[in-house]
This record gives sequence, structure tokens and C-alpha cells, in this order.
Amino acid sequence: METELDRLVERERLPEDGSESSLRPQWLRDFIGQEKMKERLSIFLQAARGRNEPLDHTLLYGPPGLGKTTLAGIVAREMGADLRVTSGPAIERPGDLATILTKLEVGEVLFIDEIHRLPRPVEEVLYPAMEDYKLDIVIGKGPGANAIRLNLQPFTIVGATTRASLLSSPLRDRFGVLFHFGYYEFDELRKIVDRSSRLLEIKCDNGGSEEIARRSRGTPRIANRLLRRVRDYAQVRANGLIDTSVAQDALGLFEVDNLGLDRIDRVMLETLIMKFGGGPVGLETLAAATNEDSGTIEDVYEPYLIQLGFINRTPRGRCATPLAYKHLGETPPTHQEGLFPSGETQ
Ligand code: ADP
Repeated sequence: METELDRLVERERLPEDGSESSLRPQWLRDFIGQEKMKERLSIFLQAARGRNEPLDHTLLYGPPGLGKTTLAGIVAREMGADLRVTSGPAIERPGDLATILTKLEVGEVLFIDEIHRLPRPVEEVLYPAMEDYKLDIVIGKGPGANAIRLNLQPFTIVGATTRASLLSSPLRDRFGVLFHFGYYEFDELRKIVDRSSRLLEIKCDNGGSEEIARRSRGTPRIANRLLRRVRDYAQVRANGLIDTSVAQDALGLFEVDNLGLDRIDRVMLETLIMKFGGGPVGLETLAAATNEDSGTIEDVYEPYLIQLGFINRTPRGRCATPLAYKHLGETPPTHQEGLFPSGETQ
């Protein structure tokens, strides 16, 4: 029977389908890329283990699919502790948090995904829990209400967010370790594709894995997804082997271009350029014009387009850069508002 705790947390089970979790690296040494972060983390882990203490609370931030959930699992495993998984929106009331925290055992790792979506009253209960392993709860209502303080076992919170700026500063300040996940380099993605092909027993030569890595938007989750889709194509339209030309044909058919941009990225750029003369355009207007959710644009699409230098974020809105025009085969305007400091004409 599902208990209240089962509704709120998953134990050692990560919230994705089986094939995805079978590809998750289990130990820090298997985690490809993010070298600086790994070096620091391995020091913190070793030091905490040496003192026989839990790792300090750790905040992971960066775009989706870069390995935050995976790293939380690794932290638990490296500490020899159990992992419990929940998310900001799942914890609706302070009582939900109390249910989770009072069940944590010594040293356990609680992963809170989308931690920026924790309701404020829940956050306030979390502060003393993170700082002193104390839980302040109020029993009853009105004048008869009673505040009591419970002791908790020492534990580690690993919080993940796509946007650290949405986290309140008191919450951010309670994390002792902060890691920013950047997009992965081409060589790292190639290694990830090679590793996943080995694990999934997919035949993929160097040319094939390079082509997939190049079009993965710097994101391991996308690399794994493209690998599976190209495998389908290779199985049905070729002899099962993924090589350069099979990967190119498949990704062409799936409308993933040579920089990894998909149809929605292109619709965004086209809308910005064709409908709004390159911008500046406000996020909400862009969302309405492209039929996309503004949060998804901000978390998923825009960061990579900014990284490529295709979009600029200005105080007046989003602007397409000359590089974006070129990528779409358009001629950039000689003057564009927002691309030059205000008042300057060129
Ligand atoms: P996030 O929590 O940031 O959205 P995940 O941890 O769910 O991302 O990662 C998505 C998938 O990408 C995982 O299932 C894993 O297989 C793969 N992955 C992520 N980071 C790495 C890495 N550094 N090395 C190898 N595979 C990775």
C-alpha cells in the first residue's frame, strides 16, 4: 500500500524510465566531463567521509539534462548512503516536508529537484533543518497551537534547479557547496555516446558518434536520445551500423540540424527575425508567437541559443544576432535596435 512517504519520495529510484536510468553513471569516476566540479566534489566527499560526517548541503544548477540527478545519485553512493528523491512541487505543505525529514536516517541524501518551486512556508521549515538538523512544527491551530522542536538525524540535501536566480537568497545561502553545470564539450559528448552505445549494445563507429555528439546541444540527455533514435533508423533503413552518413541522414530526417538545433529552435529564431525584425522582443510575446511555454523557452531553448551567440538578452527583450541570420541563410540588417548600446547608431 502506498504510504504518505511513498507519495513524497522515491527511494533509490530515479524518476525516469528504466532505459534512461540504466545509462546513469553510478560513481564519480564514470561521470564524464565537468572536470573542475568533479575534482572539488571528490575532495569534499573524501573529507566528509574522513570526518564521518554527511556531505554539506549541495546545490546543483544548470539547464536540464546535464547530469544533476545523476550526480545526486553518485553523491549518495560515494558516501555509502541511501538516496531519496523528491521535488519542489511535490512538497506542498510544511507537514509534507516534516514527513520526509523525520524519516531520514543518518547520512541519507535527500535530492530535491526543482528546488526553486518549494512553497515559501515549506522553505521556512527547511532553514533550521538544514542548519541545525532541527524541525520546528506547529501542532494545532489558533490560540491553542503549540510549537515543538524535533531533532533530526544529520543528512545531506542535494538541491537541483535550472535557474539559481529563482531561488530565494536565504535558501541559497544555506547550501555549503554550489556547483554550476555548463554545457558539455564535443569530446565529452562523444565519450558519452560511446559509453551509451557500449551499454545498449548499439553498433556505432567513430564517425557516427561524432555526428551525434555534434548535434546534441551540449547535453548528455539529448545525446542519449539521439543515439536511440538513430539506432532505430539504422536498424530499419541501413544495416544496423551507425556511421557518419547514417547518422547524418537520420538526424536530417528528424530535423536536427548540424548545430543540434531542432524545429522549435528554428521556429524561435525565424519568429524573432521574420516577425519582429530581429527584436528586441519580450519573452512573453515570443512565447505567444511561437506557441511555447515561456518557462520552457527560458530554461531549455534560450540558454543554448545564447551559448551559440544566436540570441542576445537585452533589457528591452531578446534580439537575434547576425550569426542567427546567417544560420538561417538570411542577411542581417545593417542596423538593429538592441544590438548596439543605446543612442549609438551604425
Ligand atoms: P538533469 O537532472 O540535470 O536533468 P540527468 O542527471 O537526469 O540530468 O541526466 C540525463 C541523462 O544524461 C542521464 O540519464 C545520464 O544517462 C546522462 N548523463 C548526464 N550526465 C552525464 C555524464 N556526465 N556522463 C555520462 N552520462 C551522463
